[in-house]
Amino acid sequence: MLQLIANAKNNPKKVAIVDQGKEYTYQDLSNSSNAVASMLLGDKSDLNESPVAFMVSPGFDYVATQWGIWRAGGIAVPLCITYPLPSLQYVIEDTQASIIVVGEEYQNILNEYQKDPKFKFFNVSDSKQFSRSFTLPEISKDRPAMILYTSGTTSLPKGVLTTHANIESQISTLVKAWEWSSDDYILEILPLHHVHGIINVLCCALWSGATVEFLNQFSAKEVFKIFLKGKLNVFMAVPTIYFKLISEWEKLSEEEQKELHQAMSNFRLMISGSAALPVSVMEKWKEISGHYLLERYGMTEIGMAVSNPYHGERRAGHIGQPLPGVLLRTVDEEGQPVNAGDPGEIQIKGPSVFKEYWGKPEATAKSFTEDGWFKTGDIAVLEDNYYRILGRDSIDIIKSGGYKISALEIEEVLRKHTEIKDCGVVGIPDEEWGELVVAALVADKEFDTKELNSWIRERMPSYKTPRKYIFIPDLPRNVMGKVTKNELKKLF
Ligand code: ATP
Ligand code: MG
Repeated sequence: MLQLIANAKNNPKKVAIVDQGKEYTYQDLSNSSNAVASMLLGDKSDLNESPVAFMVSPGFDYVATQWGIWRAGGIAVPLCITYPLPSLQYVIEDTQASIIVVGEEYQNILNEYQKDPKFKFFNVSDSKQFSRSFTLPEISKDRPAMILYTSGTTSLPKGVLTTHANIESQISTLVKAWEWSSDDYILEILPLHHVHGIINVLCCALWSGATVEFLNQFSAKEVFKIFLKGKLNVFMAVPTIYFKLISEWEKLSEEEQKELHQAMSNFRLMISGSAALPVSVMEKWKEISGHYLLERYGMTEIGMAVSNPYHGERRAGHIGQPLPGVLLRTVDEEGQPVNAGDPGEIQIKGPSVFKEYWGKPEATAKSFTEDGWFKTGDIAVLEDNYYRILGRDSIDIIKSGGYKISALEIEEVLRKHTEIKDCGVVGIPDEEWGELVVAALVADKEFDTKELNSWIRERMPSYKTPRKYIFIPDLPRNVMGKVTKNELKKLF
């Protein structure tokens, strides 16, 4: 049986999930996932790797559904609960899922599938009438387990197929590196259709026999309220969420800040990932919480690959070292390994690496080298034993006048300016320069950018100075809080 699900037997009475104040044990999870599996199977004995799309609110029913699909031998396809219908259709059509499971609240949006006889449509709450004791199918580890869609930061999201062995490797690597145990208690606030929420938070916690508390609707206020209860000891979020928590903190009275700071001393670990963590956010968070955020780097296709150390220095602006079991190299455009200190594309090998892009054999073939390295498309440099991300080759590395310029580096500098709250740097096509460096600024009020340029030149070589600025109320972002730079480019 699958290790994650088998582990639930180790501690049946332990609280696995806290969902809207209600506690559910590991035994409850075993029972309910069994019931979901029975409901899905009907008179079949194995779903035989059929993709099962499910749209269920983060919480107990979500996990029961995910495990139920695995127990019945299906491929789990979690749908984003905030997507409009066309985006849901994209995933359902792309995976060719013909089995759909919904929570009550999503029955309406997917109504057309319920009426269509081509689809088997289930409501998760109907599983309560099922309990079946005969054995479920034997699932070998090399079976396909899940299709997760990439965040769609650079182009249309791609379905990433992982096997049970891939997922187990992704989980066990992190459990070891970040020292997960059954004493842990984590708050889940991230979308559960992306690797960060589903693997790093949910699966790692449940694998370890820990407790996961769900917060359905994110608000910085609610998060702080839960911090104050003093139960949590692990927290994971994306940089934008830390940004929001910091803004909320600034609204609190001195007394409230003191109380919250005290409550945060219970944490053993706070993590950031999915996008570059601005140095200023890491510094501010240290001041607020007393914790150095642990920044790590990963992708839907590879799970987590590089992490700052659990013990030891967590270096701001850096992602750390390859995790145990992950083979990493950085290469130039010819595919030759670069020297330490020189920028190169990160390539990865190891048991956590996905099987294929679902239904896209050409894209899969193109994303691997002949000798089996996965090409991440992310450019990094090794500095004093810590990797630093320079950005995505396709959008963050701006090719201008023969130079290769990292947009992320310029953003780091701009954020130090007292008037600038946030910023996004991109390259736009230019006949003379190839690409021009331009910047979108978020500020309380517009100011003269002529002075900004001389301020920048004191801090960076002039070829990196943006040639054009615009002021915008907020940066365009996707559900993972990542800046969608193709959208940003259109604004110029
Ligand atoms: P798409 O592939 O659809 O364009 P995406 O690449 O954003 O979207 P994900 O797989 O969710 O989809 O994100 C992986 C990417 O996130 C990495 O390739 C990298 O560019 C970025 N990333 C993750 N962690 C970090 C980090 N700590 N610092 C900088 N970038 C990061
Ligand atoms: Mg990607």
